[in-house]
Amino acid sequence: MPVTIRNIRTFLTAPNHIRLVVVRVETSEPGLYGLGCATFTQRALSVASAVDQYLAPFLKGRDVDDIEDIWQCAFVSGYWRNGPVLNNAMSGVDQALWDIKGKRAGMPVYQLLGGKCRDCVPLYHHCSGEDPKAVEDDIRASMEQGYRYCRAQVAVPSYATYGARVQPGQRAVWEPSPYVRSVVRLFDHLREHLGDEIELLHDIHERVPPIHAINLAKQLEKHSLFFLEDPFAPEDVEYHRLLRQQTSTPIAMGELFCNVNEYLPLIRDQLIDFIRVHVSTIGGISPARKLAALCEFFGVRTAWHGPGDVSPVGHAANMHLDLACYNFGIQEEHYFREETREVFPGCPEIRDGCMWPNDRPGLGIDLDEAKAAQVPFEEHETNGCWPPIRRADGTVIRP
Ligand code: MG
Repeated sequence: MPVTIRNIRTFLTAPNHIRLVVVRVETSEPGLYGLGCATFTQRALSVASAVDQYLAPFLKGRDVDDIEDIWQCAFVSGYWRNGPVLNNAMSGVDQALWDIKGKRAGMPVYQLLGGKCRDCVPLYHHCSGEDPKAVEDDIRASMEQGYRYCRAQVAVPSYATYGARVQPGQRAVWEPSPYVRSVVRLFDHLREHLGDEIELLHDIHERVPPIHAINLAKQLEKHSLFFLEDPFAPEDVEYHRLLRQQTSTPIAMGELFCNVNEYLPLIRDQLIDFIRVHVSTIGGISPARKLAALCEFFGVRTAWHGPGDVSPVGHAANMHLDLACYNFGIQEEHYFREETREVFPGCPEIRDGCMWPNDRPGLGIDLDEAKAAQVPFEEHETNGCWPPIRRADGTVIRP
């Protein structure tokens, strides 16, 4: 008798004030269920609708063993496809089916993916400060905790800057030229005072005109970054060809990618060094493992997007891929606080700058439904939309 999908339910929960979307696939076998991450925090309610009103009725009764066929059927079931809402919905189901397959096999998911290539998953830690000295102090504190990779972001005086806290009284405006100058000063300072043992990363977050990003990547070349992230917006990826000819600074790209046609040319032509996709936004573990295998043959390493608005279930999925994919590069860290860890028992353990698996079957993580219900989405006038950021003259810019 095949084990079949009995029901698919979406959970919306916001521990520590972050809106998360988690999908639970229930099966015909009593007590057997799987969890998947479908978190697209800025459009969480749209994803929930796509799961509960479309995928659930479409997939009920399907054999849980058929992960690949279920993914392919769901992919074309809306006819129009490759968008972030539908991909996240599919990821919720896909990751839950891998969780179920692991539980049925009595193995962690990384075993189903080929087994461990490494004992644990090195993480990069987010470091920031209001000036270069404060960033240096934050990195030193991280190194004392065992981190060997740190992302360094610095505030730009008078401006709202990605990755650094907005100071009281700061205007919510942003300008590219002061930012570029401040980042160069930051890395000059960090290498002078920290030496070259620590691996340093930086995220441009697609905020500057492309030629500014090329200029910045060239100026940072002497500081040997581990990677420079998102120099361009997805709409400007053709600039990667110019950038590659100008500098050997390693490039990470792609947390906003949804469609295979956005990233395939960059990998095939070896224009990036790290693929940064948000695993749920490309559709889950099934497409991510194929993407990782493709990247391996082109010398591109993985660096899956891992901020706080990937649920702990999604971080667990990232970890299983990281353990099993030979061309793993680095994993972005989000340290989940107590409230989140109570909602998600079995959160991957973080120590010595690495994430460690617990070796339970499946993804190794659970959802405490009662605790999740105690931290519902809070009232928010725009339902979690990213607020506009503007230049001094009022022009809206990319987030
Ligand atoms: Mg980023």
